[in-house]
Amino acid sequence: MLVRQFDIVDGEIGVLGLKHQMLPVNLLKGFSSIDASKSYSICKESMKEDIKQYSQKLGVDGQGLLKNLVNIFDLFGLGDLEIEDVNTESKTAILKIIDKNFRDNYTADDKICHTVTAGILAGMFSFVFSDDMNCIEVQCMAFGYDSCKFMVKKEF
Ligand SMILES: [Zn+2]
Repeated sequence: MLVRQFDIVDGEIGVLGLKHQMLPVNLLKGFSSIDASKSYSICKESMKEDIKQYSQKLGVDGQGLLKNLVNIFDLFGLGDLEIEDVNTESKTAILKIIDKNFRDNYTADDKICHTVTAGILAGMFSFVFSDDMNCIEVQCMAFGYDSCKFMVKKEF
C-alpha cells in the first residue's frame, strides 16, 4: 500500500505527500555524533509534526497508524522494526530493530547508539498514544547484540 504513496519526481522524493531526502549512512553517523540529546530532540519534534501528515494522508488515527508504523519506518531505511509489545493503557512499547547498516558501519568505539532512531520513535509514539512520549535504546547492535531494543514511555 505504501509503495503507491512513494514517488520520485524531478529528483524529489515524496512519501505520503511529504518531501524526503535519502542520505548516505556516514552522514547520519556524523549527525548522530554531534550531540546525542540535541539530535534526539530534533528528530522527535520533527517526527511529531510529520507523523500527523502521514496519518492524515492514510486517513488513520493513532491506533490506525500503529498498523502502518512498520511500513513507514521501513521507508526510512533505518532497519527492520518489530513491535514486540504495545500497551495503550500504560502508554508503553517495546520495539526491536535489526539495522544491518548500523551494524556494518558502527562500533562501540563510535560511542553512539541509535539516538536518531529513538527520537523518530518517540515522535511516532507521541502520535500513537496522543501524549508527549520518550524513547530510549536499552540494547544496541553496536555493542555486539543481535538486535537493538527500544523502550517507549512517557518518562524515564
Ligand atoms: Zn542500536
